[in-house]
Amino acid sequence: MSNMNDNDKDKNINIEEKHEHKGDYEDICYICRRPESKAGKMIKIPQNISICADCMQKTFDTINKGDNPYMQMMGMPPNMINLSNLQNEIPKTQKIKRKSKEEEQVAQEPFERKKVPSPHIIKGQLDDFVIGQDHAKKVISVAVYNHYKRISSLKDGSYDIEKSNMLMVGPTGSGKTYLVKTLAKLLDVPLAITDATSLTEAGYIGDDVESVLSKLLQAADNDVEKAQRGIVFIDEIDKIAKKRNTNSRDVSGESVQQGLLKLLEGSDVEVPVGATSKNAMVPLTTMNTSNILFICGGAFPDLDKIIKARLNKQSSIGFKADLKDKYDEEPNLLQKVTVEDLREYGMIPEFLGRLPILFSLEGLTKEMLIKVLKEPKNAILKQYQRLLLLDEVDLQFDDEALEAIAEKALDKKTGARALRAIIEEFMLDVMYEIPKDENIGRVLITREYIEGKGVPVIEMRGSLKTKLITEAQI
Ligand code: ADP
Repeated sequence: MSNMNDNDKDKNINIEEKHEHKGDYEDICYICRRPESKAGKMIKIPQNISICADCMQKTFDTINKGDNPYMQMMGMPPNMINLSNLQNEIPKTQKIKRKSKEEEQVAQEPFERKKVPSPHIIKGQLDDFVIGQDHAKKVISVAVYNHYKRISSLKDGSYDIEKSNMLMVGPTGSGKTYLVKTLAKLLDVPLAITDATSLTEAGYIGDDVESVLSKLLQAADNDVEKAQRGIVFIDEIDKIAKKRNTNSRDVSGESVQQGLLKLLEGSDVEVPVGATSKNAMVPLTTMNTSNILFICGGAFPDLDKIIKARLNKQSSIGFKADLKDKYDEEPNLLQKVTVEDLREYGMIPEFLGRLPILFSLEGLTKEMLIKVLKEPKNAILKQYQRLLLLDEVDLQFDDEALEAIAEKALDKKTGARALRAIIEEFMLDVMYEIPKDENIGRVLITREYIEGKGVPVIEMRGSLKTKLITEAQI
């Protein structure tokens, strides 16, 4: 009997081989006996049996029928099994990267301490891009250095250092996101940026907290090891403060803070691959968050009032009681933020406890905005200058013009974010008009032009003659 089985197996293998190599033979459905050319692609089941999709679906339908006592007994809903769902090819974004043996070995090796530059080098590199914010840059450089040092020491198994997750407080457009993006690029680690406003408690409309890890995985090309050493930046963190005076369930506030706790602390989390929420059709993978650096950032509007109230209370006690309005004119009150202020704001203590590094960014002043325009390696003005240089036109801004742009941006109260919009507005005309005349060699943008009271100064190619573009032209 067993001999026969072996023979049968051999026969089957031979047939399979023929199929594979020659492709001359068609599979035939075991149930309806139609060949592959008529019934479509076959589903293979053990014993070398092929079944066409129609017959397979019919079989499922029979199992699925609402009156099927077994399904009812197990509490399964009708039409639970749908072949079209099962047959869908899993897209590449939902597959985990497979590694070669060498790559796996490299991943297992400790994150080399030497590879992480020292804090002063990190800060120096940040200086090339981010204007001002000296304190923030210093704190972040040290924290990142310590974080990656901690990862390598963990692998040694010798000692444990607390995780350096951070909380950044700073007005809109002061460079919070920009700082993190620059940092991730310098360190060459994957970065995921999420808005806390899009997160909700699991089961409600919105993204589950695990979605932040899905994004990180995506940024790491679905390479789990790489993602586990990445950085997650959660912006608008102030929007998940505990809602006051609410009777309804706070699914996007306190619950999200609660949900984030386990990620911040470091634990194994099931993460949907290539999707933002878990469902039956999305593959899951397990990620460990112990070595992921979490940075939270928020503008925390009105936090200054809480800080001021605390400071006033402190200074109005005792003999040397100060004037009550002592802090009214203080420009950078946010620098004095403490964990208590944030608790008062609505962040829960457990959440704050998992973000041990707290620092703030200052609002950008006019002088800083001017520097943002011209100094960083990829400054906006440099970008436009490069663009016009392709047409061999030299674009210049006089100092007064830069001041005017910075003043306009200050009025908008959105920090450096306003700069690009303002520049784009007036550069549109310049970029449109200049290529019309090939003789134009230089364009000088003036304060009058920015304020809409004049036109840019144009210099023609090959001559020192200066002419003003007529109002009609621009
Ligand atoms: P936010 O603090 O609201 O996260 P962003 O970091 O998104 O602000 O800043 C918006 C843009 O403004 C950045 O892309 C960057 O170009 C510019 N910017 C903001 N702050 C700075 C800064 N300190 N130095 C250089 N550029 C800055």
